[in-house]
Amino acid sequence: MGDLHGKTALVTGSSRGIGRGIAQRLAQDGALIAVHYGRNDAAAKETVESITSAGGRAFPLRADLGIPGDVEDLFAAFDTELAACGAEPGLDILVNNAALNFPAHIDAVTYEEFDRTIAVNTRAPLFIIQQGLRRMRDGGRIINISSAVTSTAHPSQIAYSVSKGALETLTHTLAKDVGARGITVNTIAPGWVETDVTAERRATPEGRAALAAYSVFNRIGRPSDIADVAAFLASDASRWITGQRFDVTGGSML
Ligand code: NDP
Repeated sequence: MGDLHGKTALVTGSSRGIGRGIAQRLAQDGALIAVHYGRNDAAAKETVESITSAGGRAFPLRADLGIPGDVEDLFAAFDTELAACGAEPGLDILVNNAALNFPAHIDAVTYEEFDRTIAVNTRAPLFIIQQGLRRMRDGGRIINISSAVTSTAHPSQIAYSVSKGALETLTHTLAKDVGARGITVNTIAPGWVETDVTAERRATPEGRAALAAYSVFNRIGRPSDIADVAAFLASDASRWITGQRFDVTGGSML
C-alpha cells in the first residue's frame, strides 16, 4: 500500500487479533510500531518478533487501560521506548483498537461492567487521542476500530454497542477539529473476525458456518481483511477522507 518509512505508529491492543494484523501490515509498509497490550506479555512478544523477523521495526508497550493513570503510563512508556529505539520523538499514526466486551442484555448489565466497558472502549481512546495529538506530526492519521454493532442492533451486547457508538461520534467530531493540521480521523467497523473473541463460536462447524453466513462472501473475516483497510487509511492515498465510518464486514449489512 503506502510508504510509511520514517513514520511511527501506535496500535493499541496489538498483542493479538485484529490489532496484531494491523501492526504487522503497517510495519510491512515501513512504519515503526509501538505494539501496545494490557497483560499478555507472551502474545505481545510474538507480535514484535513476527514484525522484526520480517525485517520490520517494533517494540512492546505494556499499559493496562481503563484504570486511573492508564494513558499517562502508556505515553510515558511510549516516549521512553521511542528514545531507546533511537527514533525521533513524535507520532504519525494512532490506531485505537483495544477493547473488551461483557455481553449482557439490558436486564442483566451491571454498573461495574458498563463503567469498565466505557473506560476501556471509549474513555481510553479519547484521552489517548488527547495525548497522542500533542505528539502527532501534521498530516497524521487517527483510526478508531468500532464494530458492526453500531449499524445493526445486538441487544445482547448493550454496553459494548453504546461504547462503540460513542467512539464513532468521537471520530467525526474530532475530524473537524484537527483537519487544519492535515490530520484525518476515521472509523473502521468490522463484522465477525477470526480472533480469540470469536474462538468459542467458531469451535464447531455449525458455529463457523453461522458466522460465515453473515457475509455475502460466506466466510468469516480475517485480521488481514481489516488491516488492509487500516493500511489505506494510514497512507497518503486517504488524505482527502476524514470523519468517515468504513463498513468492513464483507457485505454483512447488505
Ligand atoms: P482480542 O480480544 O483478540 O484482542 C484484544 C486486544 O486488546 C489485546 O491486544 C488485548 O491485550 C488488548 N486489551 C483488551 N483490553 C485491554 C485493556 N483493558 N488494557 C490494555 N489492553 C487491552 O480482540 P479483537 O482482535 O477481536 O478485537 C479488536 C478490535 O476489533 C476491538 O476494538 C473489537 O471491539 C473490534 N471488533 C472485533 C470483532 C471480532 O469479531 N473479533 C468484530 C467487530 C469489532 P492483551 O493481549 O494483553 O490481553
